[in-house]
Formats: sequence, C-alpha cells, structure tokens
Amino acid sequence: MAFETITKPDDVRASAVLTEEIRARFVWDDARAMLDGLPTGKLNIAHEALDRHVTAGHGDDAAMTWIGKEGARRAFTYANLADQTARFANVLRAHGLGRGDRVFGLMGREVELYVAALGTLKAGMVFSPLFSAFGPEPIRTRMEIGAANALVTTAAIYRRKIAAWWRDLPSLKLILIVGDEAPEDCVALGPAMAAACGEFAPVPMDAEDMALIHFTSGTTGRPKGAVHVHGAVATHAATGRYALEMEPGLRYWCTADPGWVTGTSYGIIAPLVNRVHMLVDEAEFDLDRWYRLLQEERIAVWYTAPTAIRMMMRAGEEAAKPYDFSALRFLASVGEPLNPEAVVWANRVFGRPFHDNWWQTETGGIVIANTQGMDIQPGSMGKPLPGQVAGIVAREGEALREMGAGEIGELALRPGWPSMMRGYLHEQARYEKCFAGGWYLTGDLAMRDGDGYYWFVGRADDLIKTSGHLIGPFEVESALIEHEAVAEAAVIGLPDETAGEVVRAYVCLNPGFEPSDELEKSIRGHARKLLGPTVAPREVVFRHSLPRTRSGKIMRRLLKARELGLPEGDISTLEADET
Ligand code: ATP
Ligand code: MG
Repeated sequence: MAFETITKPDDVRASAVLTEEIRARFVWDDARAMLDGLPTGKLNIAHEALDRHVTAGHGDDAAMTWIGKEGARRAFTYANLADQTARFANVLRAHGLGRGDRVFGLMGREVELYVAALGTLKAGMVFSPLFSAFGPEPIRTRMEIGAANALVTTAAIYRRKIAAWWRDLPSLKLILIVGDEAPEDCVALGPAMAAACGEFAPVPMDAEDMALIHFTSGTTGRPKGAVHVHGAVATHAATGRYALEMEPGLRYWCTADPGWVTGTSYGIIAPLVNRVHMLVDEAEFDLDRWYRLLQEERIAVWYTAPTAIRMMMRAGEEAAKPYDFSALRFLASVGEPLNPEAVVWANRVFGRPFHDNWWQTETGGIVIANTQGMDIQPGSMGKPLPGQVAGIVAREGEALREMGAGEIGELALRPGWPSMMRGYLHEQARYEKCFAGGWYLTGDLAMRDGDGYYWFVGRADDLIKTSGHLIGPFEVESALIEHEAVAEAAVIGLPDETAGEVVRAYVCLNPGFEPSDELEKSIRGHARKLLGPTVAPREVVFRHSLPRTRSGKIMRRLLKARELGLPEGDISTLEADET
C-alpha cells in the first residue's frame, strides 16, 4: 500500500527518544498490517471500514445498532452498510460529482449521516460533517471555506438554514434531502437510494489524498478547517485497538456527534475498521436514557466526554443505582480535562476504570491515553500511545527548548503519524505556525512527570499569570469541584494592577445548593486550603451554566471577554447559554 513515508525527527539525541522512535515505526507497520488496501497499492477508508469485511465473510456481522430519539431501533450488518454506502456513492456519481468533490453532511445522528460519510469516501470524494445545530451563518462560512459541491441534510434544516442563500454559493451543485420528498431544486435521497445500484467498487485513493475536512471546535477563536487524508485510517485502526481495545463484535458506544472529530474518527471509522458492533443514539444526553442504554445494550467500551460524566455526578450517585453495568470493561473520555474527582466517582459508580484520552482535531486520532494495565493516575491524561513521540517544550523566540520532568511547557509531538492534519484550509500561515524545531506544537500546556505520565495544565491562551506564578485553570477547577456544592467550574485571569492578573472562578452548583455569601466564602476557603492563597480564586461567581461549544468545551475566552467588555470574537460554535 502507498502510505506516506513517516517523517523522522531531524534532531534525535536522547536514547530514550530513539527507543520511542523504534517503537513508533513498529506500530505503524503493525497498523498497516491491520488494513487490507486495494489492488495496485491504493486504499480507501470505506473499503477498510466496510467492504473488506464483507469480502472476508463477515457481511452478516452486526455493524451498527441505531436508536432513534423516540426509541425506534434499527440494526445494520456490515453487508447492509456496504450496500447503503454503495447506493449513496452511485447517487453522487449520477448527479455528476466526481473524485475530490466535497460533500457536506448537516443533520443529527441519523442513519443517513453515517451512510453519507462512508458513501462519500467510497466515491473518492471528501466529506465534511457539520453540527446540525449550527446557525445559517456558521454553516455558510464553513461551506464557503470548504468549497462545498454537495450537501446532505433534512428538509427542516434546509428550510431554516440553507434555502435562503445556497444559490449564491457557486461551487454548490447538489442538495440531497433525507426522506421521500424534497423542496424545489433539491433531490430526495430516499427514492434516489432505492433506485441506485447497491454495488460500487471503492475508488482507489492514494494515502495522501484528501478524505475529510474537520472544523476545530472554536474554543480559542475562529475555527480552522483541518484537512485529513485516507492514510489516516492506519491511525484509526491502531488507536482503536490500543486505546479503546476494539476487537470484532465488541459492543461499543461513542457518544460524540460526527459534527466534531471524535464522532467521525471514533464514532464511525475506527469502530468499523476494527469490525466492532457500535451503538448510535440519536438523542442528546439524558441521564436515565444513557444509563439504560449502557445496561440494555451491554456496552463494553464506552467513549464519552468529561461533561457527560460531570452531568452524571451532578445528578448524584443514587440515579445510577438501579442499573447494571456488568458488561462494561472501562469508560474513556476526551475533549476536555478530566478532573480527578470524576475518575474516582466513575470508578465507584461503574465499578470500572476510567481512561482519559488526549488528542485534537489536528491529530485526527488519539495521541496520549490511559490504557489497560497502566497504573492510572487520576487527573493525568496518561502516556503517549505506541507510535507517538511527545515532548514538553518552551518557545524562546525562534528557538525551542525541551523541558525536563516536572516542568510546565507546551505539549509538542513529533510529526509523521498517518492521521496528522495535512493543513488548515486556506490558512497556510496559521498551519506553519504550528511547527518549529522538528515538533508540532499543540497549543496546550502540560507537564510530564518522572514516570512519563502527562498532566494537562491548560490551553496556552488560558494560562493565568499572577504575582510571578503561572497558573493553569484546570488545577484550580479540579480543586473547586471537589467542594460538595460545586458541579462545574471555569477559571480565568482578570487584569490586576498589583498582581498582574487575579484568579476568578465561575461555578455551577449541585442540586440542593443555593448561591449565598457564606457559600462563596466556603468555596474560596476550600480552594485556599487545597491550592494556597496565590493560586486560589480571589472571587467566586455563581452561574446557572457556563458558555460552551457544541462539542462541550467551556469557552473561557468568552467569560473573560464578557467580563472585560471586549468583543466576543467568533462564537459560531457557542451552544446557547444563559449567563
Ligand atoms: P479551537 O482549536 O478551534 O480553539 P479546540 O481546540 O477546542 O478548538 P478540538 O480540536 O475539538 O478543538 O479540541 C482539542 C482540544 O481539546 C485540545 O487541544 C485540548 O485543549 C482539549 N482536550 C482534548 N482532550 C483533552 C484531555 N484529555 N484533557 C485536557 N484537554 C483536552
Ligand atoms: Mg485547538
């Protein structure tokens, strides 16, 4: 197969790093061996995810169980999905689209979204999933940046968010509407699929051919359109196996929406490549529904987000009592810092380990993780997976300095793994700024301890400098939620004449607690006891909710901008919030 050549770091000095390098190369060879490839040295993600399993005699294996909002249940085998995606690819082709064209998906977690994603890839076209809850403007901007040629959506979303402007986007030629009827100038997907042929040979792609465009969450600013290639499937295969222990038949549930990268890499590609039986729930978070699904669907590996666990914690342990989680092997989360408190809570309530994972849209797949057999340190992201070389660096002008154990710096990675982004669309300068001295710089601050565990400190942008100290918001937030009244916390630095910045905390309370001066004092006292007077927040402000992105991340920059009366910046990914 034609995979990219793995870039070798230019300045490998320490022997420890060298060992990692050897380990790294081994893993990608291993990952390649997990894949099938197409004749003539080409590959296609959809072939790896679906068709090859059918050819190998696993067509009747369960691939996806889909649960609708109202409880409808639909089951799909690998053969079913191979057939559906072939039909979808044929529909695209019948409407004049060809290799390299861009197809955007805009709908909730409906079956058609999954079919569209893999059908598009099968046809050799590029897929870009968007959150269905985005307003018309963020949708339009992203489709302009991505030069969309086709859109798959629902009639309701079309009427509210697309109809008014799509004819002004010259690249956009085709709108497919889920269901049997379509508005004028659009095509109804139902009849088109029914009439299409259920066979389609996956288009042979080079490993470096563009496959997906994923927009980042927009937590720190204007979202970037990260470009990913077909060869990325090697990462999905390997990390699915190593970090999420995927194996054929595994009952697996990833709660993420494909509107952000987790929902695609680990909600579509990795599970199907590893031939697991995945669950897709159309509904949003609902405490009892989620506990019930874990129990009834006998989920063995559950991949979710810290915010979901914090919501469960807020509802209290009692709510989990009636359910049986005996099928569960472990749970894992990604996307936000996982407070040690949450790890301990989940251990107790589920009786299973909780594995924090770190990665980002740009890395395309899991990079740092807690894995089975590791001695889990609550609050640590874990260690780099085999195949990854991480470091902690400080930018000093043009130069980079590598930091030692226990020092805080920017988390950096040696480039060269298959799912690394290949660029930000139309933003070459922003892309190039991510690389220096042979490293990819992640924009996150972290610390590596003497045992090789990585600890998240905060986003570089969120770092607080007070009286000569550097404070990562995560540490403070984790201490705050250990207070019995605090469900969630966000911490920012506000300008201060004497200290440079002072720490301000916003907290949401657990049920049964009301904001009061005494409670504010008690929370501050608790933080002071755990963190000391310099690091503890000077002020604690009560909120009903915190501003967050659609992917569930707290937008600290927005809290700060609002506090300081500054422009809010890009808030296209903001979930409606009450402040
Ligand atoms: P933008 O880049 O547009 O500001 P974003 O960085 O939130 O948005 P994503 O790529 O979806 O967009 O999120 C990746 C980021 O999420 C990481 O860089 C990190 O800051 C945070 N993150 C992910 N996993 C973890 C984790 N386990 N612990 C702490 N932070 C995490
Ligand atoms: Mg980011």
